[in-house]
Amino acid sequence: MKINPAKCVACGNCTYVCPMGAIYIDPLLQRATINRDECVECYACYNGLSKEVLPPSTVRFVRRTLANFRVRFEPEPDVCPTTAFEPDQLEWPRVVRRAFSDPRVPHESTGVSGRGTEEVKTNDVTDRVGIGEVGFTIELGRPGIGARFRDFQEMSRALAKAGVSFEKNNPISTLMTDVTTGDIRTDILNEKVMSAIIEIKVPVARTEEIMRIIWEVEKRIPTQVVIGVGVRCDADGEETMVLPILEKLGYNPQRAKTNIGLGRKVIRDLTNAAPISADKGAQPKEMVTA
Ligand code: SF4
Ligand code: SF4
Repeated sequence: MKINPAKCVACGNCTYVCPMGAIYIDPLLQRATINRDECVECYACYNGLSKEVLPPSTVRFVRRTLANFRVRFEPEPDVCPTTAFEPDQLEWPRVVRRAFSDPRVPHESTGVSGRGTEEVKTNDVTDRVGIGEVGFTIELGRPGIGARFRDFQEMSRALAKAGVSFEKNNPISTLMTDVTTGDIRTDILNEKVMSAIIEIKVPVARTEEIMRIIWEVEKRIPTQVVIGVGVRCDADGEETMVLPILEKLGYNPQRAKTNIGLGRKVIRDLTNAAPISADKGAQPKEMVTA
């Protein structure tokens, strides 16, 4: 993203809408400026502000003149008065910033918008996480802090060393050059995104081991880590294997997203396939977060 200095009148409205704090008023230029290293190409500034087409030189003259009388001329707070934002023609590797940070842009590898993963939200159809397994979503980054691909690599290498398998239908996995080592393409390691998610699954018995690996890596990377844990419930809608492990580790897990299997029924009805077996059909799936 760029701000055209010939158009900007330094009203400062855009500095409040950037979730990365990447826009500032340059005191020498007297123009809004984007810190390109911190900008994650989320387009919140471009899409979030209304655009007016006031003539920049007139606006500057009015602002300067009124300032002499200690009167301020400010545009409405949700407006860029001179349409000064100009999207860049993004090229590789910078284009990955937008793929992960603008929720309206489908990710090439998965066709899913934004961070580009369905996680276990569609587990009733995909069966990503089976009985006896636990799926982890390990999210790095947040608005205001973001994460670089070298941080993701630090995490993926540690997990790969422990012999876990990465979810194939996940954009971070598709950017790995070697899923057995967790190495990520070297040309994107410095690229920054708002956030993204690494997905793995392991047998339930490895839950504590994986949590401890994540904790160790978290100490070494300059961003925030959020862990999501996806498990299947039993026929009574309860989960008694993973929850006690998480509680022992000091968490108070809450059920965040519940998948009750409607997707499976719709798919079955649409395809007129044979009914699923009673025991499998009685397995609702749930997602809890730690
Ligand atoms: S909102 Fe527009 S005119 Fe105001 S500081 Fe930002 S880019 Fe410049
Ligand atoms: S594209 Fe996003 S991160 Fe970049 S300057 Fe605009 S709001 Fe900030």
